[in-house]
Amino acid sequence: MSDSKHLGVTPPVSLNPSSAEEEAISLELLATLEAEGQFESADESRNREIVLGKIDKLVKEFVYKASLKHRMSESLARSCGGKIFAFGSFRLGVHNAGADIDTLCVVPSHVTRDDFFTIMVDLLKNRNEVDELTPVPNAYVPVIKMRFGGVEIDLTFAALQQPTIPDELELLDTAILRNLDEFSIRSVNGSRVTDEILRLVPNVTSFRLALRCIKLWAKRRAIYSNSMGFLGGVAWAMLVARVCQLYPNACAGSIVAGFFRIFLKWPWPKPVMLKSIEIGTMRLRVWNPTAYAGDRAHKMPIITPAYPSMCATHNVSQSTKYIIDAELKRGDEIVTKIMSGKAKWTELFEKSDFFRRYRYYLQVNVMSTDVESHNLLHGFVESRLRQYVAQLEGVGAIVVACPYVKSYDHEYACKSDEDIERIRQGKLPTTPMPSDTPDPTTVVVKEGESAEGAEKKAHTSAFYVGLLLIKEIGREANGKRRLDVSSPTQEFINLVTQWDTWNSEGMGISISFLLQNQLPDEVFDGQPRDRVRSTTTSGSTKSKKRRGNDTSTTDNPAKRTKIAMTAVPSTSGVAAEPAAKTDEAEKEKDVNAEDAPKAAVVATGFAAIAAPVPPPPKQAGIKLKLLNAL
Ligand code: ATP
Ligand code: MG
Repeated sequence: MSDSKHLGVTPPVSLNPSSAEEEAISLELLATLEAEGQFESADESRNREIVLGKIDKLVKEFVYKASLKHRMSESLARSCGGKIFAFGSFRLGVHNAGADIDTLCVVPSHVTRDDFFTIMVDLLKNRNEVDELTPVPNAYVPVIKMRFGGVEIDLTFAALQQPTIPDELELLDTAILRNLDEFSIRSVNGSRVTDEILRLVPNVTSFRLALRCIKLWAKRRAIYSNSMGFLGGVAWAMLVARVCQLYPNACAGSIVAGFFRIFLKWPWPKPVMLKSIEIGTMRLRVWNPTAYAGDRAHKMPIITPAYPSMCATHNVSQSTKYIIDAELKRGDEIVTKIMSGKAKWTELFEKSDFFRRYRYYLQVNVMSTDVESHNLLHGFVESRLRQYVAQLEGVGAIVVACPYVKSYDHEYACKSDEDIERIRQGKLPTTPMPSDTPDPTTVVVKEGESAEGAEKKAHTSAFYVGLLLIKEIGREANGKRRLDVSSPTQEFINLVTQWDTWNSEGMGISISFLLQNQLPDEVFDGQPRDRVRSTTTSGSTKSKKRRGNDTSTTDNPAKRTKIAMTAVPSTSGVAAEPAAKTDEAEKEKDVNAEDAPKAAVVATGFAAIAAPVPPPPKQAGIKLKLLNAL
């Protein structure tokens, strides 16, 4: 690709090929990704192809059965066809071992979505190789989720306005969208977007390797999740594709370096686009910040290339953008070193320090007494947590409310209703009680131990939000400072408990305010648990000076204002009363589990967690700066 005809909304920045050194660094990237287990084996690949072939056959069988149900003759029903399309990361060629496959089932107009969720589901139920079958008919994009032959599959559905679906059918022609319902348009678009991305990338080999690198980096740094307000797979793919357009002859290493350089400085909310937005003749809504206030509010718009174009990143919030920017900065620094031979790719892929970065956390615990309900509850909370985060961002003292991208899930076999009740209140066995709180009923049978066959079970999920506070928060008449998150907390609890599937008998929700040293062991995954100091975060944990082991990335910790937290149990949420001091004078007499640990559990009392604190490690976190005006 070296002529004047270019892909993208602007000409390339450079047509130069990469240097021999850059090529060598790309080979190192490939080797590192292999060592990180990012590529599946030949056997796995073969299995995926077999699975896709079987599902394609099943789709044809489904169309046949549905056609008979709609009173077609046997021969006509047989000729109706039906086809599956793989899309998403599998289609892009960047899926890793164990990844799921996004598939679209395309059928003729007379086959309905109802048929899909009855006849197709029945056909799947009858297959031995199918398990974890979960139809989700009411989703934004209705989907059947399952494991087929050991491969996780998301199967979506679209009925096109044509009587038959031949095997040669392609979906790129916009005309196929005519007269489709909104669900089918969204479903078809998944496939159209993936195909357009591939079409708009000049060098697919470099694109794939660079995208694999960015996906692994984003996952390790806990910023890979559309639902939590970060970027999902397709958004990362579009960012990498745009860099490929700007450097059409560059190798993967150079594309990765360009990725960090470009998006660290990107003048958001200027949108990232792979081609100009098509207005189309079908009057479908396309992303348009001039016409729609909602689109104007998008903080990091990344626009899908297939008509009707939409913003794949509408969930990004002020906080998640802030964290993404901080990670881009870290990534840029490391990749600059890698490109000059001064660092290794593994440094880029170090795990996130999310649980060591903040001083304060909110822990959202949900529980259910049966697994099916819990799957639904989990999905609901996961999809709504960003609303809580948005409300928290509105609390004056909070600069960043950053959700963690995954939940910690457990199944407990309980001895008694009291055990279940304690879990409902958020007192999980994974969050050890202080040793001076003898409470034999709390210790339910350990997770998994004899959960099988137990009469009473509790399924739990804990979600976390890290909080970065401004230095100065308002002083009350008594001289104490107060952080009050009760209003957004209560609103979120109301949102969950007013959900139409909520069942107050079998479900529970509680929210705890935790200091960093009160976090349960499991979130550290065997890693050290000391807090990593960041640039100018509010307050501080125990003095590293005192421990004689300074791994701080802080610019001037002595200047920071300390906030001692005493959380007040409240019937309407969590209220924490921070009593302010300046650490200069206090010489880091800090809040810890002994002097102010009363993390409140909404409406249910409190749980205090004392945890052992091993020495801090040598590991740099991302740098968080307090922003005066966000
Ligand atoms: P992963 O490896 O995480 O599965 P992926 O590229 O397969 O990444 P998914 O999140 O599985 O991405 O989405 C599959 C497809 O669905 C995407 O390729 C895209 O076409 C569509 N899609 C998903 N999320 C969005 C979104 N936020 N906006 C627009 N399209 C989306
Ligand atoms: Mg996918």
